[in-house]
Amino acid sequence: MSVDSSVSKEVKPESVLLCPLGTTAAPEQKLLCIFGTGDLGRSLGQRLLQCGYRVMYGSRRPNSCGPLPRGTKAMNHEAAAMSAALVFVCVHRENYDFLEALASQLNGKVLVDVSNNLKKNLYPESNAEYLQRLIPGAHVVKAFNTLSAWSLQNGPSDANRQVYLCGNSVQAKQAVEEMATKLGFAALDKGSLSAAGELEDFPLQLFPEWRLPLRVAVGLTAFFFFYLLMRDVVYTYVEQGKDISFRIMVSLANKVFPIVSLIMLALCYLPGVIAAFLQLYRGTKYRRFPDWLDRWMLCRKQLGLIALGFAFLHVLYTLIIPIRYYVRFRITASTISQIRENRTSVFDTTKAWRADSYYSMGILGFGLYVLLGISSLPSVSNALSWREFSFIQSKLGYLTVFFCTFHTYLYGWDKFLRPYSYKWFTPPGYLLSLVVPSVLIVLKLLLLLPCVDRSLTRIRQGWERTDPEDGSVKALLT
Ligand code: NAP
Repeated sequence: MSVDSSVSKEVKPESVLLCPLGTTAAPEQKLLCIFGTGDLGRSLGQRLLQCGYRVMYGSRRPNSCGPLPRGTKAMNHEAAAMSAALVFVCVHRENYDFLEALASQLNGKVLVDVSNNLKKNLYPESNAEYLQRLIPGAHVVKAFNTLSAWSLQNGPSDANRQVYLCGNSVQAKQAVEEMATKLGFAALDKGSLSAAGELEDFPLQLFPEWRLPLRVAVGLTAFFFFYLLMRDVVYTYVEQGKDISFRIMVSLANKVFPIVSLIMLALCYLPGVIAAFLQLYRGTKYRRFPDWLDRWMLCRKQLGLIALGFAFLHVLYTLIIPIRYYVRFRITASTISQIRENRTSVFDTTKAWRADSYYSMGILGFGLYVLLGISSLPSVSNALSWREFSFIQSKLGYLTVFFCTFHTYLYGWDKFLRPYSYKWFTPPGYLLSLVVPSVLIVLKLLLLLPCVDRSLTRIRQGWERTDPEDGSVKALLT
């Protein structure tokens, strides 16, 4: 029995068959060509087949080019180029010269350049521009170079859905965009072929926005580690002849981490405050910030996340304090000596208040710190409105800085008044860590003064002190 008749028998009388099976021919599968049967060529071919395309490979050795996706064929470059209107060039740039001989076959066709380089600025022009120069009659589109063969084979996931493309022909870009969408990717047009160099540099980047924050973190950690090593361990050895080097592992680490965390948290908010003062000083928001401030502002999220990492380490190191041998030994020794000497210590309410407030501020600060970190995750921040996001990151962010700074002030209490705190005339580490956050808090409080806040709001709404047309200067508070 034929498929047609079985279908017609099963159709219920009241149902409507919009497109009777068998009467319309299946849509013609588009044929695409891929030059190169290497890793990317094979993965791309596989994906294209899965998405309903037919694939023809162009190879130097069509009869011995190894296993290809089932359903595809390989031919020599000339024949393959003539078979399709769109050709992927999955060959390294260094081997592009064979394409020159195919200029007439590739004339008017869309050539997709997927290539990358091993280093930045290796060639004077981008690979795609070079390809366009070799085949001036083709429409070169740079695309797919930011995806790996592996991700192409596995299909798009949330993390790697975007395909960047650029090219001089709008129609050629549209054709590639349509095909990318059919493969399940989201195409993002980056403009003309002159943007190809930027796209080729993309896969070579190694955490560019993390570089500066990581350098700051490493620099601060190294500085405070050696500073505290000198003050705590070396000083005690030299002045008192006592070896307390075992403290490096926990006590010293648990001083360095909170110090770095607090400074980095403050550094995360400081550029915003500097930018506000700069706008007030200039009387406009339309002038660009200096480059150093721009760069600093762009890495605030990374500064904050690294600061959170250090705060986590501080919490973990603090949690193990009661089980440390050194701490247990000191408590036992002091209890035994009190019993021996028949002494009791008097309960000090001020000390109790101070210790509890110190812990409480630390816990509250850390809780808000974690909230800031969670809300900076793209999946969470995308679900927040702009107002919600800025409330958490700005208002709660400053509250976090305040709690953590207050926590550190309570830790220091009146130690800064005692001369023995200044070993070898150096201030204690916690005092140094308070400089940046304290400056930040004072500057922020100044910005919150009603007259300053009003002026800043006006500037941020587009008001300018100097009239752009006649150059006259207006008073800010009018
Ligand atoms: P590959 O495994 O080395 O394959 C390159 C293919 O180019 C070879 O299989 C060969 O195919 C062809 N070829 C080699 N020498 C040739 C020559 N002298 N003349 C003509 N054709 C030649 O490289 P791949 O990893 O697939 O990468 C191909 C391109 O995609 C590169 O430009 C790379 O930067 C880019 N890319 C790769 C990835 C990835 O994950 N692999 C990701 C993004 C972009 P035949 O023997 O069939 O001719």
